[in-house]
Amino acid sequence: MAKKAKKAKERRWIRLVRPPDENGVGVFCLRRAKKDTFYVFKEIPCAIGGRGFVVHRVGLAEVYYTRVGEPEECSCECLGFLAHSNCKHILGLKALLENEAV
Ligand SMILES: [Zn+2]
Repeated sequence: MAKKAKKAKERRWIRLVRPPDENGVGVFCLRRAKKDTFYVFKEIPCAIGGRGFVVHRVGLAEVYYTRVGEPEECSCECLGFLAHSNCKHILGLKALLENEAV
C-alpha cells in the first residue's frame, strides 16, 4: 500500500540522544517543524502486552505512560492519543524499537 507523501514541513524525526544507561534511563529527541523536543524515557515492566515506557518531556512536568507493541497494545496518556488513538510518543518509541535502538 503506497503512502501519500507528506509535506516536508510535517516530517517528523526521532533521534536517540542517549541510549538507556545502566538504570534504563535514556533520552530521545523529536523534531517537528524544525523544533526539537527532548524526552527522558525509561522502560517499565508491562504485564498486559507490548513494552511499557515512562516518557517525560524535559523542562515540563508532563509524564506519560506509553505502551507500544502490536496495534492493539499501543496506548498513551497524552491528549493526542485520546483524540487520535495515536501520538508522537508511540510513533517515536516504535521507530526506536524497530531500529533496535532501545
Ligand atoms: Zn502520547
